[in-house]
Amino acid sequence: MSGATIEVRGLHKSFGDHEVLRGVDLTVPAGTVTVVLGPSGSGKSTLLRLINHLEKPARGVVSIDGELIGYRRSGDRLHELREREVLRQRTRIGFVFQNFNLFPHLTVLENLVEAPVSALGRPRAAVRELALELLGRVGLADKADEYPRRLSGGQQQRVAIARALALEPKVLLFDEPTSALDPELVGEVLDVIKDLARAGSTMVVVTHEIGFAREVADTVVFMDGGVVVEQGPPEQVLDRPEHPRTRAFLAKVL
Ligand code: ADP
Ligand code: MG
Repeated sequence: MSGATIEVRGLHKSFGDHEVLRGVDLTVPAGTVTVVLGPSGSGKSTLLRLINHLEKPARGVVSIDGELIGYRRSGDRLHELREREVLRQRTRIGFVFQNFNLFPHLTVLENLVEAPVSALGRPRAAVRELALELLGRVGLADKADEYPRRLSGGQQQRVAIARALALEPKVLLFDEPTSALDPELVGEVLDVIKDLARAGSTMVVVTHEIGFAREVADTVVFMDGGVVVEQGPPEQVLDRPEHPRTRAFLAKVL
């Protein structure tokens, strides 16, 4: 799987008079993994939602392989893209949520096939073939015809990851993918994400799993209060944090 570079420049976002992102810059080079850490309320989910334009920024831009997300540039002006165009862009940005968000009335296989067929117009037979291959990759080939409620949380999250992959995304965003899981199911989901990292996917993973960050991240980003407080390789940010806020946070989660 090949990845694309994500660039975030000067991102600001407010809800009412609460400034949730206060100028975030981030570069995730193609084929690398960035793990985002930070206390609850620091703006991590908002950052991911702005990357795929589920929220509009107050200021700043996101681009993926140089393509602006949500806007078209003409001269030095930005024009908002039509909803259709934004939806098209969003299909190539895989998003995996804390709570899986599978379609309960569709089988596992149908969950994977739905969007590529309806949103991208891909031929159903080819998508089915890809979907079965992806289910094999996440270790669930035998669950294709089950309904989500019959699966464990770990299995459901692996289906959600396969569903994101079925759209052949350029990048993958994970928002606390294991925090809704019983502890004994966390490992199987992290293993799938690790495989994707090894295969060269570009990923941003919001997680509190420090061991995972240490093993998989190229870059660890620590956010607090809507800004990136500190970022660098895991051994720097996790073992020799420079900022007192990073140290205080790590002391709580380690
Ligand atoms: P994190 O994921 O780091 O816990 P979030 O990005 O979810 O943080 O939220 C950052 C802040 O923005 C929180 O104070 C949250 O309450 C607020 N917030 C997030 N989304 C909304 C929204 N849609 N409306 C109002 N406030 C929001
Ligand atoms: Mg969050």
